[in-house]
Amino acid sequence: MPLTSYRPATVKLFDTHCHLDLPELAKAQDLHWQQAQDAGVAALVIPAVEQAAWQNLLKLHASQPAWHIALGIHPWWAAKHDLADIGLLNQLLQQYTDEVCAIGEIGLDFALAEDTFDQQLQLFAAQLNLAKQYAKPVILHHSKSQPQLLAELKRQQFTEGGILHAFSGSQQQAKAFLDLGFKLGIGGTITYERARKTQISVQKLPLDSFVLETDAPAMPLAGFQGEINTPAQLNRIFAAFCKLRTEPAEQLAAALWRNTEQVLRLA
Ligand SMILES: [Zn+2]
Repeated sequence: MPLTSYRPATVKLFDTHCHLDLPELAKAQDLHWQQAQDAGVAALVIPAVEQAAWQNLLKLHASQPAWHIALGIHPWWAAKHDLADIGLLNQLLQQYTDEVCAIGEIGLDFALAEDTFDQQLQLFAAQLNLAKQYAKPVILHHSKSQPQLLAELKRQQFTEGGILHAFSGSQQQAKAFLDLGFKLGIGGTITYERARKTQISVQKLPLDSFVLETDAPAMPLAGFQGEINTPAQLNRIFAAFCKLRTEPAEQLAAALWRNTEQVLRLA
């Protein structure tokens, strides 16, 4: 059963992970943004997945300041890139320091074929280094790679923090990232019954640990499997989040907004 949406008029939500530039959403971008706003979403972050997306994202941010952008190379696209792309990223960060709120989507995905690991590690290390250089937070993609991500964050003594995208897991797994100044990106996962461990983490961890995200067009919510996910669905994720917490919805929304502004330094 889909969760009913919940949106008191006073609540404004921040979708910290929405691929509004990908073809599935881009073809009806304005419609999705309108529907998201109608659902209480007042701002979002569009993280890049590849170099070819960067100029377009800078353009999108210039046209709509509520669309914050992160530039980076996603591990799924690692094979298409090399250190020349890191050079270009460096140039853009220098030129557009204030327009880019984070480096992302970067990370490690060890569910991919093993012959991509070296390239992934090289690009991740180089991008983390740029984030450090420009004092930017990072948006982290992970899959079977949390220990390796933590190792690299520690090796580079990375203290800018960021968002651990698509968090699922135990409080203990969460704490390792929280201790390094990260927030946990809470998405559609918590709408699934089977996600008990993640739901308990949402119940038990301090409220300043969390930000919300849809990961649209990916990660459809429970009851919407097989459909394209959209940023308007964030209010259903928020409803599921409220059910897991004891604080009033208005207080939760305000805290989530504040957490986002703090970690992305938007305030
Ligand atoms: Zn993503």
